[in-house]
Amino acid sequence: MHTVVTLGELLIDFVPEENGLPLAAVPAFRKAPGGAPANVAAAVAKLGGRARFVGKVGDDPFGWFLRAVLEETGVDTRSLLLAPDAKTTLAFVSLRADGERDFLFYRDPGADTLLSPEELDGSWLDDAAVFHFGSVSLSAEPARSATREMAERARERGLLVSYDPNLRPALWPSDAAMREEAASAVALADVVKVSESELDALAGDKGPAFFFDRGVSLLVITKGEAGCVYHTPHASGTVPGFAVRAVDTTGAGDGFVGGLLVQLAQRAKDRPWEDEAWLRRALRFANAVGALVTTKRGAIPALPTREEVLAFLGA
Ligand code: ADP
Repeated sequence: MHTVVTLGELLIDFVPEENGLPLAAVPAFRKAPGGAPANVAAAVAKLGGRARFVGKVGDDPFGWFLRAVLEETGVDTRSLLLAPDAKTTLAFVSLRADGERDFLFYRDPGADTLLSPEELDGSWLDDAAVFHFGSVSLSAEPARSATREMAERARERGLLVSYDPNLRPALWPSDAAMREEAASAVALADVVKVSESELDALAGDKGPAFFFDRGVSLLVITKGEAGCVYHTPHASGTVPGFAVRAVDTTGAGDGFVGGLLVQLAQRAKDRPWEDEAWLRRALRFANAVGALVTTKRGAIPALPTREEVLAFLGA
């Protein structure tokens, strides 16, 4: 009954062997599993929770590799479909000298965009407490309709719905189209996690009120090493982060979301965030997961176990 079901992109990230170069200058790339909702499912499973991933990859060696990585992490992949008619999506990523990331996607169309509403199986939500999605799967049809359909089914069943926009401008025809679609999906969610720049892009100067007006109950803004800020309609506060030796921040936000959702899934029905002491403890745990992810390279390989998080917290 406590399963966290995530839906969205699962793809290959090609990351440079050497940081600080623009994409055109990178001499060699290493393949790594990527896709934020898949990372969140892996984080939940690694932390000892139950997780299922809904998505589509190509029926090709990269797709088989991605499925195996999720299975090894303990994620249920019965809902990961193999596309006979498109290849696994590829993203080449470079970390520029100024710390910003450049993305180049091979997705014309990529298998992840071809998940369709007709392919969704209602039983994938049967044992779920939480449904989580992002905005990348909203950027192309039919995956956009499939994402919305699954979120609506989850709401009808009374599940907690979580949304991390994870805006990727390179995947959209225009920034305006991205903002409009990503903002309209807020109304599907109970819990939203954003970065500060995503907060500005979606809410402009309305701030947290933008989310509460659309029915959101918990808004969390992550702030890198500074930790996070939370807002509910009745309370707000800061939960400081942890000082660690960060070597690669890839996946920190997804680890953070996994750390929060694995706890929400235990008590999803009683809206536990209304107990502010509980919420602060949950966010401290999530901050610890995010911090630990930055101490190792990659996203999924860097995810900690629950025991590692508790040891880090001195609990
Ligand atoms: P995103 O990856 O979505 O941009 P952040 O970079 O804000 O999100 O990271 C998410 C969370 O991971 C933060 O709220 C914090 O708890 C943790 N974190 C990220 N970077 C660091 C860091 N350099 N040191 C310690 N904790 C970090």
